[in-house]
Amino acid sequence: MENKVEALYETESLCPQCLGKIKASVVRRGSSVYMEKECGKHGSFSTVIWRGSPDIEKWRIDKIPSTPNGYNFEEDKGCPFDCGLCSDHKQHTCTMLLEVTKRCNLKCNVCFADSGGMSADPDLDKIRTYYRRALEQGGPYNVQLSGGEPTVRDDLPEIIRMGKECGFEFIQVNTNGLRFAEDEEYVKELRSAGLSSIFLQFDGVNDEIYKKLRGRELFEIKVKAIENCRKYNIGVILVPVICEENLNDTARIIGFALENIDVVRGVHFQPVSFFGRYSEEMKYNRRITLPEIMQSIENESAGRIKAADFAPPCCEHSLCSFHGNFIYEGGELKPISKKSCCSGGETLKAEVGAAKSRQFVKKFWGSREVKLRDPAQDSISQSFDSILNRINSRSFSISAMAFQDAWNVDIERLKQCCIHVMSEDGNLIPFCAYNMTDENSNYLYRRR
Ligand SMILES: [Zn+2]
Repeated sequence: MENKVEALYETESLCPQCLGKIKASVVRRGSSVYMEKECGKHGSFSTVIWRGSPDIEKWRIDKIPSTPNGYNFEEDKGCPFDCGLCSDHKQHTCTMLLEVTKRCNLKCNVCFADSGGMSADPDLDKIRTYYRRALEQGGPYNVQLSGGEPTVRDDLPEIIRMGKECGFEFIQVNTNGLRFAEDEEYVKELRSAGLSSIFLQFDGVNDEIYKKLRGRELFEIKVKAIENCRKYNIGVILVPVICEENLNDTARIIGFALENIDVVRGVHFQPVSFFGRYSEEMKYNRRITLPEIMQSIENESAGRIKAADFAPPCCEHSLCSFHGNFIYEGGELKPISKKSCCSGGETLKAEVGAAKSRQFVKKFWGSREVKLRDPAQDSISQSFDSILNRINSRSFSISAMAFQDAWNVDIERLKQCCIHVMSEDGNLIPFCAYNMTDENSNYLYRRR
């Protein structure tokens, strides 16, 4: 059984050693699916990309591509070497990451940005230029301020205020939570500047996992950070990096989130990727795939949340993520009909998916301020908007995103990426291309 090989589809990838573009085949061996590829200089590579159910072939949904309203750089060497975005890109921006510093107040064992350098932060004028560039490239989008650790900047409230003034309605900060826990006055300032939500690095509910991934005990700090977000009504999304050690903790993390549902809006799992900084030990850690996280949630919750409650994304490529939207009632998570939210169901136009996804994040990941609308103003068909408003107060989302590294990168997935980093020279680069490193941690894009 394990030896039976079935060819599924062909695509393109990169060589993990030289980052040259090479052909790749996706094949099924038993219940696992692998990407297999060969570089003329560096030999052949095989990486698992999908383990178990749901079946990859049933999960993959094609969207009708649409070209973003950006600069559309002319294709020269071809994807992923002409990013900015190039004319071959197939999806609009959903979330723009703006890196406001490379400095960090932790030195984690895993870090896609390999943060912690001493290089100067972009000043406020530079950041204003980035916001303008984003507007020229089809914005406003949802914004995630990232780094480094954005809260090492005392002027982060200014950066948020500036973004709001430029028309970016949803601004989220990607953070380890240290300063959120320790500096309540700062949290208050961020909120009054217009911060909607934090993407809180949260790997588990005990300190073993923090010591392993982050080098120190952090659980109490996370609890305190959430407490301060509660005081100032800032939405929290818990973001666990999932590796072999905490794969069985998915339901415990969700349970913790539900105990704090008045402020925690969802959990967003990220299987560990091998780019930027990761330890040698992590490198040989078993790679975790999206279906394993869905299965873990079902198993560890004793079936109270089912893998079948999750759907492929409407925005990014279907193999990049899953999501489920729920209402928490009577101690149970009830799935909301998949079609009412982000999932397109049938063949979906990519740009429609991106617009829906932006709207969803803005409504569901921010603070829990429910705008009650006059029902008489709603159209007979009940707009998507009004449905979202009604269910907002008890809503909860569970999602995951699998980033791509040099071993498993699929160029077709990169072309459909909607999470774009604003580069230092003001161009939008798909997140995984921006953070892509070769085996020796040399970046494809990120400036060193
Ligand atoms: Zn090579």
